[in-house]
Amino acid sequence: MSSVLTVNGITKFYGRIRALNGVSFEVPQGSVFGILGPNGSGKTTLLSIILDVLKANNGNFLWFGHPGSPEQRKKIGSLLETPNFYHYLSAVDNLKITQSISGRGNEQDINEVLQKVNLYERRKSRFKTYSLGMKQRLAIAAALLGDPKVLVLDEPTNGLDPIGIAEIRELIVELKNSGHTIIMASHLLDEVEKVCTHVAILKTGDVITTGDVNEVLQDEDVVEVSATDLNALANALQQFSNCVSINNVSNTVSFTLPKGTAKLDEINSFCFNKGIVLNHLLLKKKRLEARFFELTNN
Ligand code: ATP
Repeated sequence: MSSVLTVNGITKFYGRIRALNGVSFEVPQGSVFGILGPNGSGKTTLLSIILDVLKANNGNFLWFGHPGSPEQRKKIGSLLETPNFYHYLSAVDNLKITQSISGRGNEQDINEVLQKVNLYERRKSRFKTYSLGMKQRLAIAAALLGDPKVLVLDEPTNGLDPIGIAEIRELIVELKNSGHTIIMASHLLDEVEKVCTHVAILKTGDVITTGDVNEVLQDEDVVEVSATDLNALANALQQFSNCVSINNVSNTVSFTLPKGTAKLDEINSFCFNKGIVLNHLLLKKKRLEARFFELTNN
């Protein structure tokens, strides 16, 4: 699969604040790529850089394998901030204004983008009569003018009610299915799991991990065991996992294994053969939220 965007070692300072620290990742063509991170992790800064709104202090990025050119840029639609639509004008008239200011596409595109975002039936209604979800869909319609192959969206469901959120998520999946690549920032793990195929997790300017959502956010088996000598137990268990930790409060040792691979009877007899008698053996499924929390809080 070829890359739509390659980000190489992007670093950005605001004065003494380092907002991005050598960020690198690849966005595969046809993916919905989530940039996931808590507030202040650098998502908006990163999107602003790849859209040439801000300049990086270091690093570079390639769209479709090339440094930016006006031709390449035409293939990218973006929604960093909600555009200012006129409340008393219809969707069609608002998009005519957006189209003439941006020079993207032509008037015939307007009906097409309104159909794509499911607002065609309401195209003649005034903007002020729209729900928040419809307003956001109109903003995405504006980004779709000129038929860009890639859409960059900053927190597209922020501030919406549950129905609006569901509408936008559905729209993103529809856009993906019709051949677009979507790059979106989100602080919601749940959203990334539901909508994205790929993810880069950002924490205070660092990419902690990136890749296929199913691999990065995969569930894990966590085994909790205990015995009289916790250190000996932890040492023995290094054979099973390279992620063994002692909890001195609960007097237990925990270790993680790939989902579905923990075999408790094998672990029990392994320890017994090493001369360690277990007095506690428990299998827990680590939830995805726990993994995200762990990734972003350590
Ligand atoms: P949020 O979800 O809250 O918008 P974010 O993940 O998009 O967060 P950024 O807005 O990119 O993060 O901010 C990253 C860091 O850079 C934060 O520490 C922020 O305070 C800082 N920052 C962002 N913009 C500026 C600016 N114009 N001047 C100084 N510092 C800034």
